[in-house]
Amino acid sequence: MTTINPYDKQKGQAKLARIPIKIEPSEHFLPKPDWIRIRATHSEVVGDLKKLLRSHNLHTVCEEASCPNLNECFSHGTATFMIMGDKCTRRCTFCDVGHGRPDPLNPDEPVNLAKAIQAMALKYVVITSVDRDDLRDGGAAHFAECITATRKLTPKTTIEILVPDFRGRMEIALDNLSKAPPDIFNHNVETVPRLYKAVRPGSDYLWSLQLIQSFKARFPHIPTKSGLMLGLGETDEEVKAVLVDMRKYDCDRLTLGQYLQPSKYHSPVDRFVSPKTFEEFADFAKSIGFNNVASGPLVRSSYHADLQAAGKAIT
Ligand code: SF4
Repeated sequence: MTTINPYDKQKGQAKLARIPIKIEPSEHFLPKPDWIRIRATHSEVVGDLKKLLRSHNLHTVCEEASCPNLNECFSHGTATFMIMGDKCTRRCTFCDVGHGRPDPLNPDEPVNLAKAIQAMALKYVVITSVDRDDLRDGGAAHFAECITATRKLTPKTTIEILVPDFRGRMEIALDNLSKAPPDIFNHNVETVPRLYKAVRPGSDYLWSLQLIQSFKARFPHIPTKSGLMLGLGETDEEVKAVLVDMRKYDCDRLTLGQYLQPSKYHSPVDRFVSPKTFEEFADFAKSIGFNNVASGPLVRSSYHADLQAAGKAIT
């Protein structure tokens, strides 16, 4: 294996070369069922949006994580912005976002982001980020600056933030976020605790739940949201147990989607969960108190987030 420059953006094999539980590169892939269909859309609109994003020096998790819904969302003029660069300090084995030693924060990013949101006339925006374990507050102050800049230019825009776990920095992160709280606070638990070490090295299941609960304790009026990807090796019983835990830690809203393998070096797809099973999970989630649930094969934490927030059915 060639030596890797830590400042390079590592994807695929390079990203997953140094993880605690090794993954055998997949030679065979589970055939995709007919319910995994990516909707084709007009490329010109998509191209224009990409130009706008680049002209504001912005990244999206849609592009960095190779989201299957990108064309559909971009052609609807929506995108999930990824702040604080395109190199993450973690190496989750389901994620196609690049790993590497991050660059310094761009002080112009909050204003660039606000201008792009204004140019796209977004009524609802999702702002996410890579994990920045290199920053004292994990990047929480930068999130607050992005929210403040957006509120200044487009005060009517609803702002959902999808945050990293701020591992080991809960208090300072929430203190800094308190300077400009979002309208919806989202943090993904991603998978079941048994799979954390293999799939989400560097993260902690209980810590992620406590982050949601601690935010809710400070802002009881702000909806909290979390999500899971299914098909990484979890059982239905484990999924239900996590949903019960999420409710116990004050999570109000939920997304459940199908994991899709970004490359042969990433975690293999263990199963394709049927639309019927997603529906059953949605019914179970509502029965234990989630007040907003989006559950379906192509659902992602910010997929049609505006419609999710409006309680519209997303599958
Ligand atoms: S922390 Fe987020 S962006 Fe980073 S590798 Fe994990 S899922 Fe991807």
